[in-house]
Amino acid sequence: MSQDNNKISRVVIAGGGTAGWIAAAALSKKLGELLDITLVESEQIGTVGVGEATIPPLRTFHKLLGIDEKQFMRATQATAKLGIAFENWGKKGDRYIHAFGKMGATAWMCDFHHFWLHGREMGFDSDIGDFCLELQAAEAGKFATSPKSPVNFAYHLDAGKYAKFLRTFSERYGVTRVEGKISEVEQNHETGNIESLVLEGGRRINGDLFIDCTGFRALLMQKTLGVGFEDWSHWLPCNSAVPLQTEATGPAMPYTRSIAHEAGWQWRIPLQNRVGNGLVYSSHFMSDDEAIEKLLLNIEGEMITEPRVIRYQTGRRHQAWSRNCVALGLASGFVEPLESTSIHLIVTGITRLMQLFPFDGVSPSLVDEYNQQTREELEKVRDFIVLHYHVTEREESDFWRHCKNMQVPETLARRVALFEERAHAYQDSGELFRVDSWVQVMLGQGLKPKGYHPLPRLMSEAEMQKFQEGLKSSIRSVVSELPAHQDFIDQYCRSADRDTLVQ
Ligand SMILES: Cc1cc2nc3c(=O)[nH]c(=O)nc-3n(C[C@H](O)[C@H](O)[C@H](O)COP(=O)(O)OP(=O)(O)OC[C@H]3O[C@@H](n4cnc5c(N)ncnc54)[C@H](O)[C@@H]3O)c2cc1C
Repeated sequence: MSQDNNKISRVVIAGGGTAGWIAAAALSKKLGELLDITLVESEQIGTVGVGEATIPPLRTFHKLLGIDEKQFMRATQATAKLGIAFENWGKKGDRYIHAFGKMGATAWMCDFHHFWLHGREMGFDSDIGDFCLELQAAEAGKFATSPKSPVNFAYHLDAGKYAKFLRTFSERYGVTRVEGKISEVEQNHETGNIESLVLEGGRRINGDLFIDCTGFRALLMQKTLGVGFEDWSHWLPCNSAVPLQTEATGPAMPYTRSIAHEAGWQWRIPLQNRVGNGLVYSSHFMSDDEAIEKLLLNIEGEMITEPRVIRYQTGRRHQAWSRNCVALGLASGFVEPLESTSIHLIVTGITRLMQLFPFDGVSPSLVDEYNQQTREELEKVRDFIVLHYHVTEREESDFWRHCKNMQVPETLARRVALFEERAHAYQDSGELFRVDSWVQVMLGQGLKPKGYHPLPRLMSEAEMQKFQEGLKSSIRSVVSELPAHQDFIDQYCRSADRDTLVQ
């Protein structure tokens, strides 16, 4: 490729949803002096309009960019998220919280849940969640953050407002925004590299490196470069969603609700000014009309928007980087909204690109490394999400029978077997979800380990009692000091400096 020897300085981002503006914000803030960055978006086409729950690493990303938290929370009507409450997943009537915190205290040889399992065998009837600060705070509807706060949290945010917030940020750091509909993508006849985007009306945007953030359309990656898609719907059968916004009916709780139903699940995401709802389902097991009817029966508060059907396919693009184009966001694939991982994967994708940025030209080794890291990261996220569907006692509908009996990826089957045999859980290198997450979800979904590590057996009953009580009482005391989440948000966002958007 002749392009490989060319310096890269002109970056063109196609698409201005969450992916496009996250990419623009990161590149402009961190590499803006070395790059000329243009973003093209079309108001006529609009964005997917969902994606309101996040996970804690987004805070690190914001810190890296110097984004002021109060300003961000006020601009995006954000609330705090301490985890996700899963209802009816293991079986109907069940409920557990996958919280962002650590559980108990770990020994180097084995994690806390082994001590908890032994305590259960000794007759202590505590819940594993009693040992997690974030979970207890979530249940109590309490929250506070400060630089010294021990609480690990993420945000619920308004996706449209977040894109606008990042747009203002990016334009300050020199990004040129172009409004228009891309009608053609021009490639170099010899190399096949993308050279320019042609907008309706004929305007041409030239670039050296292109970032495809055009959502499910994948205009550059799929339609132009023909990079195919690996379908994962045999593991993740939901392919449709009906989002709907309603007015808030009470104080915002600091967690997302995920309520399983006979062919998928429903989300509830509390923001400052409203609630985001949506029903996720498989169109093979539930019709759109049934889904809309079901959603309307299960919302609280007045409707702000009308329900609309979004169709998607779970899976990933064979390559996230091909020639001089990198796909981010929905253009690169979509696992499932269940654990709110998509925005996080956009962040890691753009971070990876900045680490491997091809200033001196695109080379096969850079592309391979990027694609390899992306593949491995996504497969681990996929396994974690498939776990929720597969480990269940629900068998009352075709959908759940399919999920329970499906053959899962070998990597997941191995993890489930390890946990079932001796409660062993692990976090692979470069893996997003920690041991605490795997344990909470495996136990929460009803997986019962037959054995556990023998180390806790060295403790007497009195020692175990003291150990567990000590942990629980220190959590109780921290939670009792926290303000109500709603009060904290009201106060924190009110105190934000109205004049400065960024530090
Ligand atoms: C039902 C559902 C729920 C979700 N929930 C979550 C969640 O809770 N948490 C989470 O992290 N993620 C979630 N996601 C994923 C999240 O919504 C996306 O990762 C995120 O919004 C990024 O989308 P995007 O920017 O890739 O695509 P889009 O928002 O679709 O943006 C595409 C952009 O490309 C532009 N474009 C397209 N074609 C053209 C053209 N021809 N010319 C010019 N511009 C064009 C559009 O105008 C738009 O600006 C969810 C997704 C779905 C489907």
